[in-house]
Amino acid sequence: MSHLMNTYARLPVAFVRGEGVWLYDEQGKPYLDALAGIAVSTLGHGHPRLVEAIARQAKAVIHTSNLYRIPAQERLADRLCELSGMDEVFFGNSGAEANECAIKLARFYGHKVKKVEAPKIAVMEHAFHGRTLATLSATGNVKTQLGFEPLVPGFLRVPFGDVAALTRLIAETPDLVAVMFEVIQGEGGIRLADSEYLRAVRSLCDAHGLLMICDEVQCGLGRTGKWFGWQWSEVRPDVMTLAKGLGSGVPIGACLAAGPAAGLFGPGNHGSTFGGNPLACTAGLTTLDVIETDALLDNAARVGGYLKATLAARLAHLPQVKGVRGQGLMLGVELDRPCGALVLDALEAGLLINVTAERVIRLLPPLILAIEEAQQIVERLVPLVERFVARH
Ligand SMILES: *Cc1c(COP(=O)(O)O)cnc(C)c1O
Repeated sequence: MSHLMNTYARLPVAFVRGEGVWLYDEQGKPYLDALAGIAVSTLGHGHPRLVEAIARQAKAVIHTSNLYRIPAQERLADRLCELSGMDEVFFGNSGAEANECAIKLARFYGHKVKKVEAPKIAVMEHAFHGRTLATLSATGNVKTQLGFEPLVPGFLRVPFGDVAALTRLIAETPDLVAVMFEVIQGEGGIRLADSEYLRAVRSLCDAHGLLMICDEVQCGLGRTGKWFGWQWSEVRPDVMTLAKGLGSGVPIGACLAAGPAAGLFGPGNHGSTFGGNPLACTAGLTTLDVIETDALLDNAARVGGYLKATLAARLAHLPQVKGVRGQGLMLGVELDRPCGALVLDALEAGLLINVTAERVIRLLPPLILAIEEAQQIVERLVPLVERFVARH
């Protein structure tokens, strides 16, 4: 019997080695990785520059704690602020922690600036913000919340992309302090907020003194073809959270603040033992460097555009395929039926994919994906979908 807590339905495979977009199991069988460990392995596996940088940093020093200055952390904060136009950064170790920081920041802003007693945050249907109690409470999935009540209070839910509903909520809620959402919902089934929605949220937040919080944990860091998903519109959030792809596999999360959200915390208001340690920040800095030097934003846009168009064309004859959507290398193929079983079919065919929101095939390959590798994803995936809809 396993001594692991039974929290995951794991697939019967273990990978022991990786190179580029390929992973190899214990028998040496290759798998084309179209998931990147859930949008984490930005640079693929075994990227020589990342491996060299973290090996060098590990030799120098791995951890010192935030009791002391950490030059790599200061440099990574500078770089992230340069790329985003944000003002300051807090580093944690995961997406949930980055969002915890954003939620605490919003409440703090509510108390200090808006002088409200019980600050509330607007969140979206189908949202996913993490598994800690506050982020689980912000998440829009009742199934994952069941059994963990009482939830953290102060979250009010509206339909995603619905400006009228948000406008109504704001009018009805004098103690509202923030609006929190994913620019592209990942776990919720690759649902996109369009530029119009982002601009509407921005002007509502400006008009009512609310913080606009973008959870970019999954769609950020180049995945959509821009550094951050909101950069496809002309607005900037007040708070942005990052994690998954930031360290290319080394755990690191970040909460960035700008304008009215910046300069609020003082010593003692928030903290993390591991957060932003030299090893994690070196992985983050190297990830950003390689994205830049290897033009991976352009690559994500170009190869992602190719993958989306080719999948749409090759699946167009199937009425059971409702659509292919997404941006850059964050893509979803929606079927008209639950299709979780496809994950195991794909595994057997040497392809790593995921199914989210029951019926959406999710593709989140490394940003180094080449056109020929995207072609291989299509060649492997299309027959699997054809066979699956014929059988089920
Ligand atoms: C994965 C994810 C999180 C949670 O990140 P963890 O590192 O698992 O805590 C939060 N928000 C979004 C949008 C995510 O995709």
